Amino acid sequence: MLKPKIAIIGAGLSGLSCAKKLCLAGFSPTVIEKSRGIGGRLSTRRIGNQFSFDHGAQYVSSNGYDFNLYLNEAMEKGVAGEWCRMHSNANAKPKSKPKIVGLKGMSNLVTPLAENLDLHFNSAVKSINPHNNGWEVETINKLGKTTFDIVVITIPAPQARELLSTQLVISSDLNKVQFSPCLAAMIAFEDKISIETNTFMSPNSELAWCARNSSKPNQQLLPDCWIVHASAGWSEKNIDSSKDEIAKNLLKIFSNTFHIKLPKVQFLAGHKWRYAFACLPLKKDYILSSEKTLIVGGDWCLGNRAEDAYDTGLSIASFISNTF
Ligand SMILES: Cc1cc2nc3c(=O)[nH]c(=O)nc-3n(C[C@H](O)[C@H](O)[C@H](O)COP(=O)(O)OP(=O)(O)OC[C@H]3O[C@@H](n4cnc5c(N)ncnc54)[C@H](O)[C@@H]3O)c2cc1C
Repeated sequence: MLKPKIAIIGAGLSGLSCAKKLCLAGFSPTVIEKSRGIGGRLSTRRIGNQFSFDHGAQYVSSNGYDFNLYLNEAMEKGVAGEWCRMHSNANAKPKSKPKIVGLKGMSNLVTPLAENLDLHFNSAVKSINPHNNGWEVETINKLGKTTFDIVVITIPAPQARELLSTQLVISSDLNKVQFSPCLAAMIAFEDKISIETNTFMSPNSELAWCARNSSKPNQQLLPDCWIVHASAGWSEKNIDSSKDEIAKNLLKIFSNTFHIKLPKVQFLAGHKWRYAFACLPLKKDYILSSEKTLIVGGDWCLGNRAEDAYDTGLSIASFISNTF
């Protein structure tokens, strides 16, 4: 029997885990991604050969069998490794779960999933409309309009809502999901700052997380690079500020928080994650259209961590391979 033609929109962890599992089941999905690389919120900003910042997800850990298996595979392939087990939170258990990071950046964590995939970058999807028994997907680049039998959408729920406003059944589920933003600063200091601890969880109400990026495995030769993530409250209040203002303000808060005189700053940039974390997830594996050929998923279906993204992708792939 002829296999259905499948599009997966989004090359984050959920889209790629879905694509990989479908390939193993004999399907040949086309992955359409708006940015110029894989990983989505598992993201690394590289500034020449000088600096590198994981400005989205900081590390991943696994509770379930499937993601654990994948992380072991990624470590065997040499693209993932273990980071420090401890952080400064006084409530942290002495031996918490291993924090797994992508070697040479978080975006590398997903590379084993993307091997041999039909991937299209710089291809933002702007509309999805019913067409005969399938769907017509329109992108803003040379892919133009293409028809598929099945379309899987793995982007943050608020962005999916914009694409699928005419799909009433799907929209009613999408409307239940809420996201909060996270504003970030990437800072490189000329000399190592006088803080021995490498990670701080919620050091005050304005900051959610501070981490010495250069303490990650394979990053030690870099200058003292830090990531500062603002709390959800501070991020919501400052979401309309420019990225430069965000970076300067977070640097000031960072300095005040640790009461230290900072060395010269070599690099400073801000980033806005408008849709960072699902503060109200759906608690369902995925959303299905009445035709069962339009499927929407993402971390926000099950929670707000990388493992949730991985698991929803696998569930969608299982549904497709068991049904078609
Ligand atoms: C600041 C921050 C810190 C985090 N820290 C952690 C952490 O420490 N540990 C952890 O487990 N998780 C963390 N997370 C959450 C984790 O990053 C996510 O759960 C996971 O990466 C989500 O994967 P996803 O594939 O569902 O979505 P995404 O990663 O958002 O992937 C969606 C993809 O779709 C693409 N896309 C969007 N719209 C379109 C369109 N119209 N057309 C084509 N492509 C499109 C995007 O470019 C993106 O590549 C963090 C997230 C943020 C933002």
